[in-house]
Amino acid sequence: MSIVYLGIGSNLGNREGNCKRALELIENKGILIKKKSSLYETAPWGIKDQPLFLNMVIAIETELNPKELLKVLQDLETEVGRGKSLKWGPRKIDLDILLYDNIVFHDDTLTIPHPLMHERDFVLRPLHEIAPDVQHPLLKLTAGRLLQKLQDRETSHGVS
Ligand code: ATP
Ligand code: CA
Ligand code: CA
Repeated sequence: MSIVYLGIGSNLGNREGNCKRALELIENKGILIKKKSSLYETAPWGIKDQPLFLNMVIAIETELNPKELLKVLQDLETEVGRGKSLKWGPRKIDLDILLYDNIVFHDDTLTIPHPLMHERDFVLRPLHEIAPDVQHPLLKLTAGRLLQKLQDRETSHGVS
């Protein structure tokens, strides 16, 4: 069994309903949800001109390997009704693999840890809520330290 942290986001339609539906569908796949963060309303990242997101992070336990899990998550995105969407653009649901045990992996379709997780408040805040001590296997820092570093950087750049 592996412990995996997933980032969930929605900024179209019934955002909370879409996130809850994703949780139900994940459980229907036989994946055990061990922890759930609160929902965080967050400003869009990358493409600013779009509605606010609701974001959360969950910890799951699964026997699926990383590629199998990615495929399941992509099928679930389709089922919730993601439709065609731009990278970083508006969508009913976005499911990202953040951390997968201590695995470091990279190919054309999958990078673990998620390459931008440590730059994102909307990932680190909910991750910190459910797993303050989980380690980033490349940066060798906990979620708590990563969040603190990001906030220090944002403060020094004058962004609140
Ligand atoms: P970002 O990945 O920066 O959050 P995004 O979620 O908007 O951007 P998508 O359009 O949802 O990007 O996904 C683009 C591709 O990213 C997917 O088709 C998938 O193959 C790939 N990908 C690479 N690493 C991951 C990962 N850790 N989790 C989910 N998808 C990943
Ligand atoms: Ca994403
Ligand atoms: Ca994604």
